[in-house]
Amino acid sequence: MRTIIINVTVVTMNDQREIHDPGFVMFENDIITAVGDMKDLPDKAGLLHTVTVDGRNGILMPGMVNLHTHMGMVPFRGLGDDCKDRLRVFLLPMEQKTMDEELVYLSTRYGAGEMLLGGVTTALDMYYFEEEAAKAMDEMGMRGITGQTVMDEGACDFAHPREALAYGENLIKKYRSHPRISACIAPHGTNTCGEDLLLEAYRMDSLYKVPFPLHMAEMDYEMDYFRKEYGMTPVRYLDSLHVLGEETLAAHCIHMTEEDLLLFKEKGARVAHCIGSNTKAAKGVAPVSSMLRLAIPVGLGTDGPASGNTLDIFTQMKLCANFHKNETRDRSAFPAETIVAMATIQGAKAMGLHDLTGSLEPGKQADMVLVETHSPNMFPVYNPYSALVYSANPSNVEEVYVAGECLVKGKKLVKSDMDEIRKALSEKMKKTDFGIYMAKMGNIY
Ligand SMILES: [Zn+2]
Repeated sequence: MRTIIINVTVVTMNDQREIHDPGFVMFENDIITAVGDMKDLPDKAGLLHTVTVDGRNGILMPGMVNLHTHMGMVPFRGLGDDCKDRLRVFLLPMEQKTMDEELVYLSTRYGAGEMLLGGVTTALDMYYFEEEAAKAMDEMGMRGITGQTVMDEGACDFAHPREALAYGENLIKKYRSHPRISACIAPHGTNTCGEDLLLEAYRMDSLYKVPFPLHMAEMDYEMDYFRKEYGMTPVRYLDSLHVLGEETLAAHCIHMTEEDLLLFKEKGARVAHCIGSNTKAAKGVAPVSSMLRLAIPVGLGTDGPASGNTLDIFTQMKLCANFHKNETRDRSAFPAETIVAMATIQGAKAMGLHDLTGSLEPGKQADMVLVETHSPNMFPVYNPYSALVYSANPSNVEEVYVAGECLVKGKKLVKSDMDEIRKALSEKMKKTDFGIYMAKMGNIY
């Protein structure tokens, strides 16, 4: 089927950063076939058998990329938001007690629905029972990579990391030829995985040419541990194990020395910048201006809903602009175009998916978002980048396409119903006795 979206401001995010205003994008099945100005629209004969969508002066942008998330954690959203340290105090024990395959599946469906409604078309998820996450993302029509989390002490899905590695490898093989979904092994972090586990996970991810995602240089106690135990930073530690390479996709990277940054540059490692999660947890601000100066691929991540709360990238774009401008005391730092690039093509590069997605160009997959400009917060629009970063929010997302399939129309999911998805998740949460468990944990709200 051939479709053309007309009367839109096309923000291509191609290398020349071309904008067509007013412009059009034409795609056949899953592939973009033409992008251009309205004055160059094909004539009537050229548009025979073509479905025409009037974009009504909206902004058509590439689908956004969420580089780091844990969709299975929707049930934990809003818990202990203002607690000093939640991870070891109750998040990990709670996962052990309550998380099962069905909950991961239902939670990931919810997370995928929320992301699509907010204009995220591609995500890298890291969690447990990731076969359920892959199934949910596939059913919802998203593009993404599901990372089976492994850690030394075992988790809610497998008591021993060996079992988690085997499960992850099977998942990688199962989705190897899938058009939208792939899988990888995701070590939880530098200090929750020992040397053997990191080496085995890296070996497997390199073998299958998939990302090697992990949390890194995030926690103060992580930095202290590496200083005391090894006399080096986590980055240098990973490099000493030879697991710092192009596959390495490190989330957070808050505490980076100049030497760490140069190592990242030299080895081609990538960064998932989670500004919302990091600043809410008072952990600090990653040195992203230095990363960009060194041309290290940096994209944006929401982190899980228990950390960053919302799963949309508009929020991250805004926080990214505000915190980094403030950090550098420079109003002109981090211009909106740079931030939209981090949300789209840079995120796709960091995931190794830039040949498929991240920009609107002929030959690429038709992954795109139509942002309407009729709502009060979207008038007037002088510069589409600035409107996307500083004015827009998920409620402005009118239509979303992934691989040419329309998944959101009129601000509603097309293939499924968000209310039903929420009802199913909520019923499962009641069955899991969340309330009883939380009461035992004391006041964590
Ligand atoms: Zn995370």
